[in-house]
Amino acid sequence: MVTALQTRNLTKVYQGKEAVSDVNMTIKQGEIYGFLGPNGAGKTTVMRMITNLVKPTSGEIEFFGEKMTPGSYEMLKRMGCIIEYPVFYDKLSARENLMLHGEYMGYYDPQSVAAALELVKLSDINNKPVKQFSLGMKQRLGIARAVMTKPELLILDEPINGLDPVGIKELRDVFRMLSREYGMTLLISSHLLGEIEQVADTIGVIREGRLVEEVSMESIRGRNSHYIELVTPDSTKAVYVLSHQLGLNNFKVMDPGLIRIYDDGITLSDLNKVLVLGDVGVENLSRKHHSLEDYFMERIGGEGIA
Ligand code: ATP
Repeated sequence: MVTALQTRNLTKVYQGKEAVSDVNMTIKQGEIYGFLGPNGAGKTTVMRMITNLVKPTSGEIEFFGEKMTPGSYEMLKRMGCIIEYPVFYDKLSARENLMLHGEYMGYYDPQSVAAALELVKLSDINNKPVKQFSLGMKQRLGIARAVMTKPELLILDEPINGLDPVGIKELRDVFRMLSREYGMTLLISSHLLGEIEQVADTIGVIREGRLVEEVSMESIRGRNSHYIELVTPDSTKAVYVLSHQLGLNNFKVMDPGLIRIYDDGITLSDLNKVLVLGDVGVENLSRKHHSLEDYFMERIGGEGIA
């Protein structure tokens, strides 16, 4: 698969403190990359460096294999972005705002304005001034503005912030369409896993400026998410009984006294019987489901994503 964007040891220092440290991020062409991290983790700073709004202290950014420099204007034309809140001319309509943006970008194609408005379902309210728009409509207009020049990479900083459930769903549908039907690559940041897990193909987790995880959703979903949890004071004996008497091999000792059994096809009562007969103290035996949130929490630890 083609790599759309690659950062190598990307670092930004503000007032002697690293806001972003050695970030190596790989975004594949056509995918939706969910960039997840608590407030202040460094998401915006990474996005600002990618879009050339801020100069990296060290490290490199490659866009489709080409190294980015402060003068890479042609490269930047191939990106669309909304970083921070999208600002418009309040008294002008959606169409007028996009026409102005086209002029500013040197992109004269009225057709693309109409197509962008159609894409985000804003065609019908052509003449209403933007000041009468809801937050969701403004976010959609921001996306129309970012995509009207047909960028290959679309960068959106917390686009879902402040939207109601209907607005969130509409926006997710737009993201999917841009990726699946238009082959666009999307980099979307969020501080909430629940907001992006449904659309992201890959999730990169940033914490205190460091990319601590980068994983495809497919590989997480393919993992065992159901298991039996055994709480016992006799872990060593339990491991012996599980492997030698029950012939199980897919289990893991999480902590002393806590074992996860991933093997399917064994009932709780059979398991309990064999353990007790093997003189293993069973304090608790229950079926559990490992959620996506658990997966990230285990790797990242502490608070920060919800
Ligand atoms: P948020 O969602 O709250 O914007 P974020 O993950 O996008 O969080 P950044 O805005 O990138 O985080 O901030 C990362 C760190 O860098 C923070 O500690 C922030 O205070 C610091 N920082 C960002 N911009 C500047 C700046 N211009 N000058 C000094 N420090 C900055």
